[in-house]
Amino acid sequence: MNTISPRSQMEEISMYSPGKPIEELQRELGITHVIKMASNENPYGASPLAQKAITAEIKDTHYYPEITAPVLKHKLAHRLDVNENQLIFGNGSDEIIGMLTRTYLQENDEVIMASVTFPRYKTNVIIDGGIPIEVPMKQGGLHDLQAMTNAITESTKMIFVCNPNNPTGTIISAHELLEFIKNVPPHILVIVDEAYYEYIRSDDYFATLHYLDEYPNLIALRTFSKIYGLASLRIGYGIMHPSIVSELLKSKDPFNVNRFAQAAALACLDDYEFMRTTQEQNNAGRQYLENEFKRLDLSYFSTHTNFIMVDTNMAAETINDELLKRGIIIRPGHMMGYPTMIRVTIGTTDENQLFISALEEILSI
Ligand SMILES: *Cc1c(COP(=O)(O)O)cnc(C)c1O
Repeated sequence: MNTISPRSQMEEISMYSPGKPIEELQRELGITHVIKMASNENPYGASPLAQKAITAEIKDTHYYPEITAPVLKHKLAHRLDVNENQLIFGNGSDEIIGMLTRTYLQENDEVIMASVTFPRYKTNVIIDGGIPIEVPMKQGGLHDLQAMTNAITESTKMIFVCNPNNPTGTIISAHELLEFIKNVPPHILVIVDEAYYEYIRSDDYFATLHYLDEYPNLIALRTFSKIYGLASLRIGYGIMHPSIVSELLKSKDPFNVNRFAQAAALACLDDYEFMRTTQEQNNAGRQYLENEFKRLDLSYFSTHTNFIMVDTNMAAETINDELLKRGIIIRPGHMMGYPTMIRVTIGTTDENQLFISALEEILSI
C-alpha cells in the first residue's frame, strides 16, 4: 500500500475507459476479423494527402515541432474566416478541454454540463478542483437548455454544450442555442464542443463562429480526429476570443502538437473529395441502419454524427458481450445512464451489415 496520497479529488474519478482496441479483442478471442464501431473513428481512414505529408515529415523527427502550429493556423484561419489569434491547437481537442479547466477554474467553481454527455468535461473539472453540475437531458437525448439556465449560480464559471452531443448524436436548434447564450452572464465561459461539426446535415444549426465577436465568452472546439481520420495523431483546435487564447498559451504544454499531426492536418484540409465521400457514405450508412432499426422495431435517437444510439430493449451489457463474441466492438449505454441502449459508430457497408445480422441474431436468442 502506497502512503503517498494524491489530491483528494482523485478519489472521485477513474481512468478513462475507451472502446476496446481492436488488437486487445483479437488477442482475447484469438480471431483476426474484428470490427470497431465504438469510438467514432472514420472507417474510411484518412486522406492520402495526410499520409503523404506524414511520410515527408519523418526526416525531421528529431526537431521539436513549432509550438503554435503557425502554418496550419494561417490556413485554417483563412478557411474558417476567423483571425489567426482566435485559434489554438491541442493534442486532440481533449487537451483544450483540460487547458480551459486548468486555466480558468478556481477551487469549487461550478461547471454546468448535460447528463449524459462527453465524459472528459466532468473528469477535467474534478481534477482542476471544480464542481460538475450535471443537468439531466430531455426525452430523445436532447440538451435541456432551460434547466441548464436555471442551474446557473454565483459560482458558475463554465458551461459545456456538446453539439452534436456525444453519445446521443442530437443537435440543438439554432434559435434555442442563441437564446440560451444570450441569457448566460458574460463572465461565464460557454464552450460548444463541435467534434462532429462536419457531419451535421441540418440547416437549423447554430453557427458558433458568427457569434464569437458578439459573445467573447463563447468558445468552439473542433477536431481532426473524427471526419478527417487523424485520431491517432492527436490534433484538435479551439476558436475563441484572442484574450482567452493568450491565457491558454501560457498554460499549455509547449510542444503539445507533434510534427506529424501538424503536417497531416495541413494536408488533409485540401482534400475536399475525401471529406465529401465520407459524408455521403456516412449518410448512406445512417439511412441503412435507421431502416434496419425500424424493421427490427427498435427506436433510436435522431443523429447528426457518424454514430447512432439505438434502444435494444435488452440489457446493453448482454448485447455488448454477445457482440464482442462475434468480433464487433460498440459502446454499451449502461455506463452512460441508458441501460438498454447502445452507441454504434456508423461503419462501412460491410461493417453495418455484419453488425445488423449479429444484432438480429442476438435479439432472437
Ligand atoms: C472525440 C471527441 C472529442 C475529442 O477528440 P480529440 O480531438 O481526439 O481529443 C471531443 N469531444 C467530443 C464530443 C468527442 O466525441
